[in-house]
Amino acid sequence: MAIKVESNEALEIKTNLTRVSQQVDQLVQQYQRETGSVRLLAVSKTKPLSALEAAYAAGQRAFGENYVQEAVDKFHALAHLADIEWHFIGPIQSNKSRLIAETMHWVHSIDREKIARRLSEQRPKDLPPLNVCIQVNISGEESKAGVALSELNDMVALITELPNLRLRGLMAIPAPQESHEAQCLVYEPLRQAFVELSKSDSMIDTLSIGMSGDLPAAIQSGSTMVRVGTAIFGERDYSAKA
Ligand SMILES: *Cc1c(COP(=O)(O)O)cnc(C)c1O
Repeated sequence: MAIKVESNEALEIKTNLTRVSQQVDQLVQQYQRETGSVRLLAVSKTKPLSALEAAYAAGQRAFGENYVQEAVDKFHALAHLADIEWHFIGPIQSNKSRLIAETMHWVHSIDREKIARRLSEQRPKDLPPLNVCIQVNISGEESKAGVALSELNDMVALITELPNLRLRGLMAIPAPQESHEAQCLVYEPLRQAFVELSKSDSMIDTLSIGMSGDLPAAIQSGSTMVRVGTAIFGERDYSAKA
């Protein structure tokens, strides 16, 4: 994380951010969504601090991270950029929940009762409630993460009871599909569930879907927050991880 990004790389990130924002705006128009209704979350996992700083300098404030230790390290290292909004979007082991509860503003990947309870218990009293989305499994057996749509109501009821969590909506990571139409078809049950849910609770305003590879389908399907990594920061190099 001490690696310095060359300034031309900073310029590239700025250019990419502008391009992705324009693409989002154009899709919002194309699919007759309300202006400004889709936020851009910059997914910075595996990227060095200098990449986040470049995005910040270009005006980006919401960042998404997948790995707990990396997320917490970045949170501390960039504490001077006090208006960054940190989103945790990766799998959560229960022994790591406290670190998340103490640092993050949002968690998109809640799919177990135990994790929800721990995050609420461990949220420091001097922080506002943790904004959370329930991760829904819309790809069936291809994915192990996420609650089934048939179990969604139970999870909603549970989280609504937890004092230090604020339920904001739903998140999904669909299995890759071959066409725009197939992507929309996979999103359709989630879109319907989100519409129903947001009718019942005015705090529910977030449908976290859409990545670098399926922005048009996600925005057509009602996304209010797209999570974009590669199209902003370039390809990820996992060789140092693993
Ligand atoms: C990595 C990741 C993203 C971003 O994916 P890209 O294809 O790089 O845009 C979005 N959401 C989640 C949950 C991720 O893990």
